[in-house]
Amino acid sequence: MTTTARQAAEPTALPSALVGQLLAHAVAGGAPSVEIHAPATGAKLADLPQSSTDDIERAFATARAAQRDWARTPVRERVAVLRRLHDIVLAEQSTILDIVQLETGKSRAHAFDEVGDVAVNARYYASVAARLLADRKPRGVLPVLTKVDVRHRPKGVVAVISPWNYPLALAVSDALPALVAGNAVVARPDNQTALTALWAIDAAERAGLPRGLWQAVLGRGSVIGGEVIGRADYVDYTGSSATGRTIAQQAGQRLIGYSLELGGKNPLLVLADADVSRAARIAVRACFASAGQLCESIERIYVHQDVHDRFVAEFVDRVRALRLGSGLDYDTDIGSLTFPRQLDTVTEHVDDAVAKGATVLAGGKARPDLGPYFYEPTVLADVGPGMTVYREETFGPVVSIYRVGSDDEAVDAANDTAYGLNASVWTKDTARGREIAARIDAGSVNVNEGFIAAWGSADAPSGGLGISGTGRRHGPEGLLKYVDTQTIATQRVLPIAPLPGMSEHLWAKTMTLYFGVMKTLRQK
Ligand code: NAD
Repeated sequence: MTTTARQAAEPTALPSALVGQLLAHAVAGGAPSVEIHAPATGAKLADLPQSSTDDIERAFATARAAQRDWARTPVRERVAVLRRLHDIVLAEQSTILDIVQLETGKSRAHAFDEVGDVAVNARYYASVAARLLADRKPRGVLPVLTKVDVRHRPKGVVAVISPWNYPLALAVSDALPALVAGNAVVARPDNQTALTALWAIDAAERAGLPRGLWQAVLGRGSVIGGEVIGRADYVDYTGSSATGRTIAQQAGQRLIGYSLELGGKNPLLVLADADVSRAARIAVRACFASAGQLCESIERIYVHQDVHDRFVAEFVDRVRALRLGSGLDYDTDIGSLTFPRQLDTVTEHVDDAVAKGATVLAGGKARPDLGPYFYEPTVLADVGPGMTVYREETFGPVVSIYRVGSDDEAVDAANDTAYGLNASVWTKDTARGREIAARIDAGSVNVNEGFIAAWGSADAPSGGLGISGTGRRHGPEGLLKYVDTQTIATQRVLPIAPLPGMSEHLWAKTMTLYFGVMKTLRQK
């Protein structure tokens, strides 16, 4: 029962000239710097300057000034920046893949998912922004006489507080719609992955984004989060449900809008008629992308008893064959965890389950021989409600498999959670798959895919139910959250009031007649 380890060449540190070029984009230095290390090797990556209150104040002032001009810039010019950024990210992918891998410890294939995500979102918002942001002309209260225009006004300065697990995708894909809608962005990337976000700002400026419009401040969320939210006009946050509550309270105090994408304990259902081999192959990707440090990743698998043994055999074989390692190439499948606390959580969840009677079908142990935070992709069976892993999010490479006797039992089990981010259903009857999907309490459900079909469809909203969050990214919702609507109504020829000399009683009778006619004509 071993997962293959591949000792790749040690990743090198980043060139110091590149680190210097990237750090020049941070509005920081007023607070003591912190050292950042590569999780896979422990090698030092950078002395990261931290932002003081003055730095944060300066970042917002600069962003606010830049935003005033940007809001007047035609949408087609804003869109052109996104198109050029799309090309830069693809052309310079080897650089950004190295940075993402070194900062997170993830494998190159999983880092590439982030490059793809930026390309998809840049292309999508470049193609729909002009249409979504165009003025709307709804029907007025009195047709012809009342002319109505609905305008979309940018919020102003949007704070994007992004985590460390998908540092490129989550920093960029939320910033792009905010920017194209005419806002400025002040980013607070996680310290561990700040260089990735700074690279994105560097690339965006090379793509033509005016300097100052996308600012970055650096610091721990618990230290500077409140300062950032205290100055923002809208907050976009990705992270844990616990921190999400704090962000919502702080935004609520200021009566500003917010969007929160939080954790998940995502289920995958293998129905009796599923293509078992395909389900097993794709489930591996869905469980272990970014070593399971993915909000959308699958942590619970419910398999119909008719195909249970076959699915488990194929799935476990595939998991055992995964290659762990830290090379900056495509020759390993799974990388390191990013923080010691992630390793602690994974170890605690697995050890607790095993002590209470769970069976380890694959993995089940740390791999300090590969790097300080490596943990084998792990498959558990015989997991029960008394175990921590049954209900709590692990956010690591651990999945539990359960045997179920019917589709109803699978749906009930899938919904037995406070989370509701992502789910997956496997069946050859896709119409039935969609019916089952609609009964699952999750913001996204993938039929015959793990997470990428829904996530990668940029025209479709993505987000959570329950404690998995509120608000949406992607799709029209992911852009329109960054604007306020303004209704401008112009009354022509006649006022909406009794004509001179007309009594209020006659006016009421006239309007009653009018309302009846409008209903008969089925007018909006
Ligand atoms: P966390 O909530 O402590 O940290 C996530 C991010 O929020 C970090 O960048 C952190 O600096 C920032 N943060 C923390 N407190 C803040 C505050 N008061 N104001 C502003 N920002 C603040 O979570 P973690 O322990 O780093 O990560 C593990 C958990 O986070 C997992 O359980 C997972 O659910 C969740 N998570 C989810 C996603 C996602 O994509 N939905 C991404 C990363 C983490």
